[in-house]
Amino acid sequence: MLFTLPLPEPFDYAVPEGMALVKGDLVAAPLSGNLLVGAVWDVRTGASNRALKPVDYVLEAPPFSEELVDFLDFAARYTVHPPGVFLRMALRSTEALGPSREQTVFAPTGRTPDRMTLAREKVLEAAGREMLTAADLARRAGVTTGVVTGLEKAGALKRSARAVDPPFENPDPDLPGEALTADQAEAAGELRALAARGGYAPVLLDGVTGSGKTEVYFEAIAEALRADPEAQILVLAPEIALTQAVTSRFAERFGAEPALWHSETGPANRRRVWREVAHGRARIVLGARSALFLPFRNLKLIVIDEEHDPSYKQEDGAIYHARDLAVARAKFADCPIVLASATPSLETLQNARSGRYGHLILPSRPGASVLPEIGLIDLRRDPPEAGRWLSPKLVTAMEETLEKGEQVLLFLNRRGYAPLVLCGACGHRLTSPGTDACLSEHRYSGRLVCHLTGFSMPKPDTCPECGAKDSLKPVGPGVERIEEEAKALFPEARVETFSSDTVQSGQEVRARVERMARGEIDILVGTQIVAKGHNFPGLTLVGVVDADIGLRGGDPRAAERTFQILAQVAGRAGRAERPGRALVQTHAPEHEALAALAAGDRDGFVEGELEARRMLGLPPFGRMASIVLSGTDQRKVEEAAKIMAAAAPDASGVDVLGPAEPPVGVIRGRFRRRILVRADSNVDISTFLTVWRARAKIPSSIRVAVDVEPHSFL
Ligand code: ADP
Repeated sequence: MLFTLPLPEPFDYAVPEGMALVKGDLVAAPLSGNLLVGAVWDVRTGASNRALKPVDYVLEAPPFSEELVDFLDFAARYTVHPPGVFLRMALRSTEALGPSREQTVFAPTGRTPDRMTLAREKVLEAAGREMLTAADLARRAGVTTGVVTGLEKAGALKRSARAVDPPFENPDPDLPGEALTADQAEAAGELRALAARGGYAPVLLDGVTGSGKTEVYFEAIAEALRADPEAQILVLAPEIALTQAVTSRFAERFGAEPALWHSETGPANRRRVWREVAHGRARIVLGARSALFLPFRNLKLIVIDEEHDPSYKQEDGAIYHARDLAVARAKFADCPIVLASATPSLETLQNARSGRYGHLILPSRPGASVLPEIGLIDLRRDPPEAGRWLSPKLVTAMEETLEKGEQVLLFLNRRGYAPLVLCGACGHRLTSPGTDACLSEHRYSGRLVCHLTGFSMPKPDTCPECGAKDSLKPVGPGVERIEEEAKALFPEARVETFSSDTVQSGQEVRARVERMARGEIDILVGTQIVAKGHNFPGLTLVGVVDADIGLRGGDPRAAERTFQILAQVAGRAGRAERPGRALVQTHAPEHEALAALAAGDRDGFVEGELEARRMLGLPPFGRMASIVLSGTDQRKVEEAAKIMAAAAPDASGVDVLGPAEPPVGVIRGRFRRRILVRADSNVDISTFLTVWRARAKIPSSIRVAVDVEPHSFL
């Protein structure tokens, strides 16, 4: 059996007389003197040549499906992690293993108590609307719980038991959706056929922003529900896209709220969702990337919305890409998977082009809505005034838009007020302690913040280096500085900033998104969290403050990412009847990603980018991996990195580069060295890394992080 611990493999236990176990059963067994919960990974018959401790007991929870066990095992092998790390992702809420706790609730019996008071009347009124606990009833009625028990004694209220975690309502596939356009109907028809037939089938749903991809995959969900009355469906979306608007669309289309799974939903909801999924009673799950590890019993369809989104890649703890693993899960579950995007990743596009994935295209928006026109502003020719960041051309466009009573979105992928703080007296650059990164100034909080580690401190009055007073100067813009400029330019306008600093909780995100959608904000300044999925009907101008940020650095996906995020943010404009436009400020208008964006030539860009990757043997035409070694003693890290590199197995078609110091050489006092691996696409890079890792004797004080298909090159 396998424990939820980072151990290299499952352990053997004896099956006691009278206990029948199958692969996937959840059991408890002794390990170093403790009883621990785990899963049966395999059952072998016959005698063991060692004395084995017996399994202690079987848990009440439904066993994991064979599909899930095989998937977790695969995920561990593929990402070169101990399998227990992935079991832990699937078995997070031990409280959810048993049945739901019950609570006592009260309902009116219809009998009027002999003695009636105002307090009693209020309680009976509240109880008439829904079944509530004594505490809730008392709170609603504004009385003490004594009134509730008094009414029970008087025979006017009756108690009953109810599960604390209620089941989810069943979705209804036959409620009407939107009347589909011809293109949508064709794509929906193909997806319905796949959902009805079942079996592994990956499909790219490739439609421009606002083309109705959601409406189309709703049809696939409906068909999967019709085809199997117990079908379960998983829809993955970037965390930030799980706003009320999206959830409501599910609720409207299927007449029942989906089971929501993301970091904001809290332990009680997680327990409820986990249990209901395990029992097969939660039918549609809408979740962030970790929902992929939920213990579905009868998974019949997976949808990955915004499949290109970088947030599908998890980089701390277990390092995995949820899109890649979702395709694997669909394979093990033997069900279709729909990958939806307006700007698909090159990996997925290449899979579609080579015929490994189906490819459905929605070329236009339905009705009167058209795609925004995208123009480039060459900052070398049209620079902003000194000390400003918005060029005259963009300011004029903002003026025109606001005059018409329409909304503006200014996009800058940088939190805070300024990304850099310099001393005007001595030129000292303020950096994060123990980390190779600059501190950003945040004016709202009055602090200097490290965006890499989260470190922050109040902004000092004097330079820590030379002691000069009031000499620290912000350099460059962040969203807060753009907000300041927009307010100065348009004092009448309602200007707000939207970044992970200004919105702390999912609820605030929802509130602000809804206010923007209702037209209560004139100019919204935001980081990438505004780029995703939202529908703002009054928004007709998107201004990109600095398109070049993501093009710097050595990330092989820099051009692809820049194209994706700019196409997405531009796609927020003109979603309703009024046409939209996007103006993109850049110092490099000739860059192929920006030129293609302005020309609306995604296919041309993809073609060029794929060709370049093919020549370099980079994904999707080759494989990559990185190994980062880190520790507090720089010399030991360097030594360990050399040992690691020297232990690399000989294999043809594999290039090992490094060790080298990555762009960020120190984080939180830990020194880092990186080895990059590039392999031909026919190389099993996971096995190569596993063999390598086992051969290298690295001291336990050094952390070794293996990343198969790295997306971050810091
Ligand atoms: P995408 O997922 O491709 O961005 P959505 O499914 O969110 O697109 O659709 C964008 C907007 O257009 C939504 O408000 C949606 O309700 C609307 N819409 C999509 N298809 C239709 C249709 N056939 N008729 C009317 N409205 C539609």
